[in-house]
Amino acid sequence: MSRYRESTCKLCRREGVKLFLKGARCYTAKCSLEKRKYAPGQHGQNKFRESEYGIQLREKQKVKRSVLMTERQFRKFFKSAEKEEGPTGSNLLVKLECRLDNIIRRIGFSSSIVTARQLVLHRHIKVNGRICNIPSYVVREGDKISVSNKSKNLQVIKSSLEENEGAGLPEWLEMDTSSLTCLIKRKPTREEVTLVGGDVKENLIVELYSK
Ligand code: SF4
Repeated sequence: MSRYRESTCKLCRREGVKLFLKGARCYTAKCSLEKRKYAPGQHGQNKFRESEYGIQLREKQKVKRSVLMTERQFRKFFKSAEKEEGPTGSNLLVKLECRLDNIIRRIGFSSSIVTARQLVLHRHIKVNGRICNIPSYVVREGDKISVSNKSKNLQVIKSSLEENEGAGLPEWLEMDTSSLTCLIKRKPTREEVTLVGGDVKENLIVELYSK
């Protein structure tokens, strides 16, 4: 499986927005974007006038990088969003929000997308009672996401749950804290998407891929 190997903070600096890839650190003054609000590299502080294509590209990169996907994986999601009923842009965002690794972060089993992905890949997460080691699995209505019995005492999960205590869950998720099981009550709506803080102009991504 291909994956990002470069510094995750550089991705935020390149996009000029917080992508919240490092968990608790993102909310502190140690956040690289707080310290250096310009793109990385030799020309990072230069000002460029962005073309229409450039603006569309940046919007796509911002969303793609917020879930640390490669171009190939992201296009695959886009193609399957196109086949669904309704606006492609909204379908795409809802699908990304429903990725298993994003759900793990959302319900607080991990504080960052990187750790969430590791938990899934290392077989600590179950979907409907069976181990699922596919971070890109798109959860469906009625799915139950839980932590495998042998992993319930993992420190990384415990401390993340403590960190997230009181953060609140969206209406489409229901958490049973005693059994560490989350029920997917329904698909989220476009308005409930939280990727990049929900601040995404999905029409720009659709325009880019329609060229
Ligand atoms: Fe790094 Fe998080 Fe700040 Fe992004 S938001 S620059 S990942 S600390």
